[in-house]
Amino acid sequence: MRRALVVLAILALPAGVPPALGETWSEARIARLPDSAFAVVEVAADGRKVRHLPHHDETGAVDPAHLRAALSRLGQVRWLDPASEAVARRHLEGHRRALTDRRGISHHARSGVS
Ligand SMILES: [Zn+2]
Repeated sequence: MRRALVVLAILALPAGVPPALGETWSEARIARLPDSAFAVVEVAADGRKVRHLPHHDETGAVDPAHLRAALSRLGQVRWLDPASEAVARRHLEGHRRALTDRRGISHHARSGVS
């Protein structure tokens, strides 16, 4: 039981070391990020990709500052499909939970709360 909990916690860790908090990303940098760095990628009627709420850096690691910004901007995004907001929210909340769990990991391991 405890082993399973530890394995889950390891899987939740981001792949790389997040950059310093508060770092902002230029438009050029965001443009170079892969689709997987965004909460949702929508495709417009003309085939153009519309990528929303970047929060992973080039290494694939979650950037905590951009994750927070993305969560706070959820209600301001102009979605092509209104259903995308729920998809983005689920995605971002999942990251937030993982980051929170990581901080509280020793407490959770001791108490057995998952
Ligand atoms: Zn993500």
